[in-house]
Amino acid sequence: MRRKTIEDGREDLLGLRVVSCGPSNGVMSMSETKNTVNKPSASSDGRHEVGTGQAQMTFPADLLSGYSRYRNKSFLPNKRALEDLAIYGQKPKVLVIGCCDSRVTPEGIFDVGPGELFVVRNVANLVPPYEEHGDYHGTSAALEFAVHGLKVEHIVVLGHARCGGIAAFRAEDAEPLSPGNFIGKWITLLQPAARTLACNPVDHGLEPQMAMEFAGIRQSLKNLRTFPWVEDLETKNRLALHGAWFDIRSGQLKLMDPETALFHDAETNQVVVGV
Ligand SMILES: [Zn+2]
Repeated sequence: MRRKTIEDGREDLLGLRVVSCGPSNGVMSMSETKNTVNKPSASSDGRHEVGTGQAQMTFPADLLSGYSRYRNKSFLPNKRALEDLAIYGQKPKVLVIGCCDSRVTPEGIFDVGPGELFVVRNVANLVPPYEEHGDYHGTSAALEFAVHGLKVEHIVVLGHARCGGIAAFRAEDAEPLSPGNFIGKWITLLQPAARTLACNPVDHGLEPQMAMEFAGIRQSLKNLRTFPWVEDLETKNRLALHGAWFDIRSGQLKLMDPETALFHDAETNQVVVGV
């Protein structure tokens, strides 16, 4: 068998190597593939069309136009660098655990491109405590891969202002959004943070929503350290944990001081105090 080369990888990128399920052994020959896959046909304006075009009709138009801009402004000018990224793999040094909130995009806030951040986002940027039982641990799985597979050197828990997950936790009479009440169960992870905040309100004078957002970040950092390999690597100074908080209204980024657990402005270093 011929050894796979980097040039083979380039062929993959160009779409010349097509694998489909076959009628017998599950593998189709190249000739079979060529005869079966929808072949592009040239349209009157020279572009290629495949199939009925139904997907383009139902796919959000804003995303399609955005993709077109991406192709022209980001992909094509950086094609070689992106090819290298595809061929040689990702090597991000930082894992960001952020919120699903559409206003808080780690790549935008930190102005980084593809391959620079490994990001997992969930409601309220929470990290569950380490546990070996249970079925599906999405955030823990991403953490495991980032630490063991990618060997990231930093983990940033990125909270944010006006977090809906935090607000839902603070709303005592919030009704479940569906019978499954997935959010309700998920944000019970904040209960220890709320107890800590009630017993030791380090952020004196902050409005309650922001204080709870800070407390949630601290709790996620605490939960990260319940993963034995995170704690071990941190002790050996091979992994650093950070708390951060972003406000899209002011554009401010605040960083948590690891010694005091207080949040400081990332540019002025002024501590965040209540008003
Ligand atoms: Zn949020």
